[in-house]
Amino acid sequence: MRLILLGPPGAGKGTQAQRLVQKYGIVQLSTGEMLRAAVAAETPVGLQAKDIMASGALVPDEIVIGIISDRLDQPDMKNGFILDGFPRTVPQAAALDELLKKKHIRLDAVIELRVNESALLDRVETRVAEMRARGEEVRIDDTPEVLSKRLASYRSMTEPLIHYYSERRKLATVDGMMTIEQVTREIYRILSAVGAVEPRAAVPARKARGAARKTARPVGKKVAKTGKKAVKTAPKAAKPASKGAKKVGKKAGRKAGSPAKGRGTGKAKKAAKKTVRKAAKKGHEKAS
Ligand code: AMP
Repeated sequence: MRLILLGPPGAGKGTQAQRLVQKYGIVQLSTGEMLRAAVAAETPVGLQAKDIMASGALVPDEIVIGIISDRLDQPDMKNGFILDGFPRTVPQAAALDELLKKKHIRLDAVIELRVNESALLDRVETRVAEMRARGEEVRIDDTPEVLSKRLASYRSMTEPLIHYYSERRKLATVDGMMTIEQVTREIYRILSAVGAVEPRAAVPARKARGAARKTARPVGKKVAKTGKKAVKTAPKAAKPASKGAKKVGKKAGRKAGSPAKGRGTGKAKKAAKKTVRKAAKKGHEKAS
């Protein structure tokens, strides 16, 4: 499984990544964690990144691209990885594309966790309180002031990636306002629909077949047209983060939310293909 988790600070990327790591034994690559380790170890990269991170701004692209490039060469990458917090800019995404191409690695999906901005401060405050309760050191950038700067960076620098990956038919969006458990289930469903995990490992077999039938739909221009409907049918979906992306709530998630080139297995694969054909036909009918 090769996955990117996309979302603003406090969206739950780290929590979901941890769950996937535990279930599939793959590696979580968090550039934020790597940079914090570099800062703590006072390496040259850490010294360069320290003040930038404390201010809530983004570390220069070439630094994070270098870190990720080195990391992808490590042997533990061969079972798969989750990128958490990378890429965060379009140049980083383009550099990642190049790196993966060179290394003959195929990305399975990019999952955006979409959350209501007003909930983010609460979430970060909860995280800080929990870290304090566990006696852990609290991040210096987890303050309301720095959080608003980090959110501004997300909006201006990272949100364009939603369009970037949507155009490349890699994007699936999950309503990150659902419970941790529900978000995890949505992620598994998407991963099984694209063939990144065995459907049975994701959800019980009967549910998986139904889900694959309903989920396997390309994320791209055609879906963007039908996406309007998905927005209407997702009552609890979060506030749109950008114009280009569609919303996938619990309900709408079944209608959309999986990259185009799925590699499902057996019946699920057949059902997925059928749904894709139907969706394409509908889109064609609508367009004509
Ligand atoms: P995170 O733990 O992902 O919230 O990242 C913490 C901080 O590390 C960010 O606010 C940035 O200053 C820096 N950082 C992490 N990942 C990246 C990245 N891909 N590009 C630039 N800066 C990053």
